[in-house]
Amino acid sequence: MMKKRTFLKVTSIATAGSLILPITSCTTSPKAPETKTKSLLDEVGPNFTLPALGYAFNALEPAVDAQTMQIHHDKHHAGYVKNLNAGLEKESVYSGMDIETILNRVSANDTVIRNNGGGHFNHSLFWKILSPTPAQPSDKLANAINQTFGSLNELKNQLTSAALGVFGSGWAWLCTKDDGSLLITSTPNQDNPLMKNVVKATSYPLLGIDVWEHAYYLKYQNLRGNYVSAILEKIDWGYVSDRYQSYLG
Ligand code: MN
Repeated sequence: MMKKRTFLKVTSIATAGSLILPITSCTTSPKAPETKTKSLLDEVGPNFTLPALGYAFNALEPAVDAQTMQIHHDKHHAGYVKNLNAGLEKESVYSGMDIETILNRVSANDTVIRNNGGGHFNHSLFWKILSPTPAQPSDKLANAINQTFGSLNELKNQLTSAALGVFGSGWAWLCTKDDGSLLITSTPNQDNPLMKNVVKATSYPLLGIDVWEHAYYLKYQNLRGNYVSAILEKIDWGYVSDRYQSYLG
């Protein structure tokens, strides 16, 4: 059953791909979606659903208040899912693709899929990288962190700078390249580092921090820095490590 399903998925992607003109290849782009690890979401377009949060709305208090969490998940994220599916219904080229493949393929001017596909992926990842009981990085990730940043604290400093440096709405990211090295980047709006037709250089997102005002304004108002330092204490480095290791294989 699993094999058959995988085969059908790959076949549909290959068929869709053959209809698209090849776009300039990029040596730093993440592994081809067909060959990389399991998708973040066990669903394909246009049948995406709102994933469960995985913990109670108040589980991250006081870092994130329950009301913000409920509105963020049940209203904002649900809206991205609804609008993504509606957009995908009109664009059959994406049928059967998982969310990473959609982000990888979307063109910069396809704003419905770009904004809502990004919104769905970004928030699905965001809920998973947070935990009321965060774990520490694995040895493998800790080594990569020390290689790139010198320490976890320095990584947090640089991630904070990236989050504070986003003008308006967007995300700060910790990503990996195919060689296992780490980098910090940011994107505006719901853009994502997997979008090769949107970002300057693609990379594979390990964690993202939402710095849209809807993520923090009820509790923190204009004090984005206080929100970012609180959220950094809730990052589940165990999950981030799993993501890092499963991507690199
Ligand atoms: Mn958000």
